[in-house]
Amino acid sequence: MEKSYQRLLEGNKKYSDSKKFEDPEYFKKLSLDQTPEYLWIGCSDSRVPANEVTGTHSGEIFVHRNIANLVVHTDMNLLSVLEYAVEYLKVKHIIVCGHYGCGGVRAAISNNTHGILDNWLRNIKEVYYKYQKELDAIEDMDKRTDRLTELNVIEQVRNLAKTKVVQRAWHNRTLRIHGWVYGLNSGLITELSAMYDELEDIDPIFRYKE
Ligand SMILES: [Zn+2]
Repeated sequence: MEKSYQRLLEGNKKYSDSKKFEDPEYFKKLSLDQTPEYLWIGCSDSRVPANEVTGTHSGEIFVHRNIANLVVHTDMNLLSVLEYAVEYLKVKHIIVCGHYGCGGVRAAISNNTHGILDNWLRNIKEVYYKYQKELDAIEDMDKRTDRLTELNVIEQVRNLAKTKVVQRAWHNRTLRIHGWVYGLNSGLITELSAMYDELEDIDPIFRYKE
C-alpha cells in the first residue's frame, strides 16, 4: 500500500493509543454526547484546522468548512449545520474564520477561470464590488487581497445575522457572531471589529418578525 496513505492509519492507531494512555475512559466519555459551545465556519484550506489553531479538543467546536468560508443563503449544507448547531447544540458563539493568503480570495480577485469554483467565488467578487473604491485604492496586491479577506469575513458575519436561524435564537437567548482572520505566517488570530449579537445590529430590511 502507498506509504503516504498508510501513514494516516498508523497515525490514527498512535492517536488512539496515546489518548487512551492519558485517560482510559477518553473515548467512552466522548462517545456519549457532544456539547460544543462554538460553531466554526472556516476555509477548507488544509493549514487552518479549527481545533489545532485554537488549542481546543475534540468535542469543543462544531465545524463547517468550505472554500473561503462563505455563508451563502442557498447553501443547504451550511444552513443545516447552522440550524443544528444553534437550535439543538445551542452553541453560544459562531466564529467565521478567514485567513490571510487565502487561495479562494486570491482566485476571486483575478479574472482567471477555475471551473465550477467560479460560481462559488462569485460571492467574493460581490464583496469586492461593494467595497471597490476602498480596495482599488490599495496598490499592493497582497495588501489588497488581505483587506478583501477581512471584508469577506465581515460580510459573512452579516450574512449569518440575516438568517432566520440566528434571529430566532436572538429572540430567546444570547448568541454572538465573531469575525476572525488567521495569519498563516504567524499562527495568530486577529479579531475583526464585526461582532453581532442582536437584531438591531442589522438593517431593518433583513429583520424577521419573531
Ligand atoms: Zn482559504
